[in-house]
Amino acid sequence: VLYQYRVDMAIVKVMGIETEYGITIRDGIGFDPIIGCSLLINSYQVLETGKVKWDYEEEDPTRDARESVPPRKLREQPGETTQFINRILTNGARYYVDHAHPEYSSPECTNPRDLVIYDKAGERILDLSRQKAEIIRGRGERIIVYKNNTDSKGNSYGCHENYLLDRKTPFPSIIRDLMPFLVTRQIYTGAGKVGAENGAEPVSYQISQRSDFVEKEVGLETMLQRPIINTRDEPHADAEKYRRLHVIVGDSNMSEYTTYLKVGTTALVLEMIEDNFIHQDFSLRSPVQAIREISHDPSLKRKLRLEDGRQATAIEIQRQYLELALGYLDRRDPDPLVKDVLAKWAYVLEKLEEEPRQLKQEIDWVIKRELIEAYMARHHLFWEDPRISLIDLQYHDVRPSKGLYYLLEEEEKVERIVSDDEIEEAMVNPPCDTRAYFRGRCLQKYAHNISAVNWDSMIFDLDHGPLKKVMMMEPTKGTETDVGRIIDSSPTAADLLEALQS
Ligand code: ATP
Ligand code: MG
Ligand code: MG
Repeated sequence: VLYQYRVDMAIVKVMGIETEYGITIRDGIGFDPIIGCSLLINSYQVLETGKVKWDYEEEDPTRDARESVPPRKLREQPGETTQFINRILTNGARYYVDHAHPEYSSPECTNPRDLVIYDKAGERILDLSRQKAEIIRGRGERIIVYKNNTDSKGNSYGCHENYLLDRKTPFPSIIRDLMPFLVTRQIYTGAGKVGAENGAEPVSYQISQRSDFVEKEVGLETMLQRPIINTRDEPHADAEKYRRLHVIVGDSNMSEYTTYLKVGTTALVLEMIEDNFIHQDFSLRSPVQAIREISHDPSLKRKLRLEDGRQATAIEIQRQYLELALGYLDRRDPDPLVKDVLAKWAYVLEKLEEEPRQLKQEIDWVIKRELIEAYMARHHLFWEDPRISLIDLQYHDVRPSKGLYYLLEEEEKVERIVSDDEIEEAMVNPPCDTRAYFRGRCLQKYAHNISAVNWDSMIFDLDHGPLKKVMMMEPTKGTETDVGRIIDSSPTAADLLEALQS
């Protein structure tokens, strides 16, 4: 085949963000992290349902909640315990323990704005869980939850983005055309970090939390030898039609603007790749080295070497992608959200080129650096001072009254994309335009008849007869338009299943 024309439009960009949070305890004797995570998630369940239903082997809330020494069985088989604690929330999200970290995986959304709302709803859910867990433990300790990506002891935890892709798109072209984008987008998606880790060159402040931990170009792993492009292929959908691209190089962001731009631009680039629109080759000679070099150069002046011998800065490479996107969308009438993403992308690149400080209300790494530098000036401190690292950490604290990002938000010193009302609503209600709608509404209405929930299926346990499985292999089916009225008019799960069949 010489040419492969795509006549059909790109498929709807369904997307989700998974965030692993850091958790620590202060003023107490400490606890096993897995117990801590389980406690958070169970505490939220108590809040949500008013009932204490513990997922441990013995249904005794006091045992695991109050004891700092975990029961032997839990300790011996951590793999097993993590599997126990897996909840699906009425907003369609998943809330679970992933290797000693509490993780919130957003429901599937169809646009960057909704995804910001559901990602922020996750922060609120973690904060509520934290508050309730402190009360349940009842020892006057502080349980603190951070939305960042490093424990500063050499361990990183991730923020994974997920994008629905057409299975027909060849993976090698995804690798070729996405890699330079992912390596360079950190200049506006980075969350900022004091110091370096994981054997990287020392530095006072760098752009990304995660870049020091990237070790490979392409690979299957997410915890070791972390790759820029992850080959994990679990579509949670019809595998013949779809791929779910699992992006693991990004930072967890506090700024709504940053998250919005991160997923908005990435979705656009993926759409161009699917449409076979990218015919320029920006391949970098050493992407892994480049991702660290860019992160370590907040001046953004560093030239990177391309495979074909040319040299370009991260800004220049991003500009090329932006130009492509402008040309791509010129051919059709883009929706207002896409136009907005493009405008913000152009604005941010322009400001980064002039003077990054101008983005002190928009972009996490710039916002945080301004905050730290102001503090350093007030207290005559240097970057190496341990208090500076604490400020870095506190930027990511999810407590609205203590987290430094939230304090800036309170003072209206950061640019927002969504409203508090929308976030609050999203804590309990699903998005209306993906299968998350069906999942969430069913959990709201028929929870006691639901025995298992996955991204692509649900199992109902009716009061009589065998278990019934509902498959949801199409991420864009099961929307409010598809099933809203059926759910409204079905008082019981049995009625629902009958109505769905007819
Ligand atoms: P791990 O936690 O080990 O990385 P995982 O990648 O399967 O496992 P989950 O924590 O279960 O991740 O989260 C899956 C995320 O992907 C969710 O945010 C969800 O909304 C999103 N998602 C699910 N199905 C699709 C799909 N077909 N396309 C795009 N996103 C999807
Ligand atoms: Mg996950
Ligand atoms: Mg994941």
